[in-house]
Amino acid sequence: MPKQEINIVWFKRDLRLLDHEPLKLAEEGGLPVLLLYVFEPSMMAHHDSDVRHWRFVHESLIELNKRLEPYQAEIYTFHSEVINVFSLIETQYKIKQVFSSQESGNGLSYERDKAMGVWFKQNNIDWKECQTNGVVRRLKSRKQWPMLWDAYMKESPKKVELETLKTVQLDCDFYTQNKGLPLDEEIRTRNKNFQEGGETWAWKYLQNFIKERYFNYSKHISKPELSRRSCSRLSPYLSYGNISMRMVYQYSMQHLESSSNKRALLNFVSRLHWHCHFIQKFEDECRYEFENINRAFDQIEKPKNDVYIQAWTNGQTGVPIVDACMRCLHETGYVNFRMRAMLVSFFVFNLWQDWRELHVLARLFLDYEPGIHYPQLQMQSGTTGVNTIRIYNPIKNSEEHDPDAVFIKKWVPELKDVPSHMVHEPHKLTLIEQSLYNCHIGEHYPYPIVNVDETRKKASDIVWSFRKNKEVKIEGERILKKHVSNPSGFKSKKLVKTKNENIS
Ligand SMILES: Cc1cc2nc3c(=O)[nH]c(=O)nc-3n(C[C@H](O)[C@H](O)[C@H](O)COP(=O)(O)OP(=O)(O)OC[C@H]3O[C@@H](n4cnc5c(N)ncnc54)[C@H](O)[C@@H]3O)c2cc1C
Repeated sequence: MPKQEINIVWFKRDLRLLDHEPLKLAEEGGLPVLLLYVFEPSMMAHHDSDVRHWRFVHESLIELNKRLEPYQAEIYTFHSEVINVFSLIETQYKIKQVFSSQESGNGLSYERDKAMGVWFKQNNIDWKECQTNGVVRRLKSRKQWPMLWDAYMKESPKKVELETLKTVQLDCDFYTQNKGLPLDEEIRTRNKNFQEGGETWAWKYLQNFIKERYFNYSKHISKPELSRRSCSRLSPYLSYGNISMRMVYQYSMQHLESSSNKRALLNFVSRLHWHCHFIQKFEDECRYEFENINRAFDQIEKPKNDVYIQAWTNGQTGVPIVDACMRCLHETGYVNFRMRAMLVSFFVFNLWQDWRELHVLARLFLDYEPGIHYPQLQMQSGTTGVNTIRIYNPIKNSEEHDPDAVFIKKWVPELKDVPSHMVHEPHKLTLIEQSLYNCHIGEHYPYPIVNVDETRKKASDIVWSFRKNKEVKIEGERILKKHVSNPSGFKSKKLVKTKNENIS
C-alpha cells in the first residue's frame, strides 16, 4: 500500500499559533499536516544551553497543545536528533513538504539545518523556510533593510483556521516507541522564579505593558530593580517566538495615538527594530559567535584567569552591583540592558578576560538569542572597532541606578545591614563599621578581586590607543559597509561620544 502523503510543520523558535507563516502555508498546502517539535540532545548539551531554556520551551508546548486539544490536534514532541525523527516519520508517511521558520541560531543549529537541507533534497522533500520577524536571509545590501523591515511589520498577520486545519494523528504505538526518553524532571517542573513560557503569557506581558507598565519605560530602563516592571519583559517570548515581532509592533502602534507617554512607547518600538537589526548582523556574518568581528583585535592578549572567572560567575567579586546582577541572573534569568552591558564590561575590561569565555551568560539569560547575544557581546567588549568603547564604572552605575541599594540588598544579603550610601563600596567600611553592620570584609563578603579604578584606566589606555591602529580602521570600514544602512551617517555621529546606548 502506498504511504499516505503528508506535510510537516517543524516548530523551532516560533512556538505560537498566531501569525505563524509555516502553519499558514501548511494549511494552504491541502495535505494533512503533522505538527512537530524536536528536543535535540546535541543542542541541549551545548555550552550555551541550560535547563531554563528547555523548561520555557516545554511550557510553551504544553500550552499550545492545550489550545489545540479542542481541534483534535497536537504538536508531537520527540527527544532525539532531528534527522532521526524525520527518517522515522518517512518510514510511515510520504513527506511532501516541510514548513518552518528561518533560524539565525548558533553554529550547531546552522550545521544541523545544512545537514537537513541535504537530507530533504535526497528524499525529494520540499523544505520551505519562512522569514522570521524582520530578518532577511541573503540580504544583498544593508541599505534596503530599514524599508524591508517596515514593509514586513506592516503586513497583515498570518491567521490559520484551526477548525479546518487537517492534522495528522500519529499511531499511538509508533509515537510511544519512538518519541525518545522523557525530558529531565527539572525541565518538566515549573520554577516560579522564571517567566513562564507560552503564547498566552506573551500576550499578557504585552497587554499589561501597553496598558500601564510602559509609562515609566524610559525613566526606569537602566534601573536594575525598577526595570523589571517598567520594561516589557517580552524578550524570552520573542526569542522563542511565543509572539511574533509583527504583532508586538502592530499592537504597540495601534495604541500610540491614545498613549499618554508617546515618547516612552516610541522608545520601546525602536528596541523592536534593534532586535532584528542585531539578528540581521548575525545572519549576515555568523562568525560573531566565534571570532573577533574586527580581526585586528586578535592581537590583544587576554590570559585566562580561572579564579576571576569563577568569582565573577558566582557573584563573589567584592563589587556589590556586579555580584547582585550575577546572583539575580542565576535565580531569575533576567537583568536589564545596562546591567548586562556592565557585567560584560567588568569581565572584559576590569578582569581583562576574553569575551569568548562568557558562555555562562548565554546559559543564564532566559531570553538567550544568539543573534542578539553575540553581536552585543562584541559591541560591549569593544571588538567591533567602530562603536564607542564603554567601560562602565560599576560603582558609579551602582550609586546612580540603585541609590537606595534595594536591588543590591535583595541579592547580596550579606550587606543588608549596611547603610545604603555605604553599600556600593563596602571594602571602604572601617573595622568598627563592619562590626556595627554585621559584615566583615574578607569574611562575610569578599574584598574586590581587582582595583576597579586602576584596571579601568589600564584597559582604557590599551583599547583606545589600539583603536588608532590602521588595521582596526580598515576592518572597521568593512564592518560599517556590511552592517550599517548609512555608514557615512554612522561615522559622523560616532565622532561625538554619547552617553546613551548606541545600536550599531
Ligand atoms: C551583553 C548583552 C547580551 C544580550 N543578550 C541578549 C539575548 O541573548 N537575548 C535578548 O533578547 N536580548 C539580549 N540583549 C539585549 C537586551 O538587554 C534585552 O533584549 C532586554 O534587556 C530584554 O528586556 P525587555 O524584554 O524587558 O526589553 P525591552 O526594553 O522592553 O525591549 C523590547 C524588546 O526589544 C528588544 N531589545 C531591547 N533592547 C535591545 C538591545 N539592546 N538589543 C537588541 N534588542 C533589544 C528585545 O527583543 C526586547 O524584548 C543583550 C544585551 C547585552 C548588553
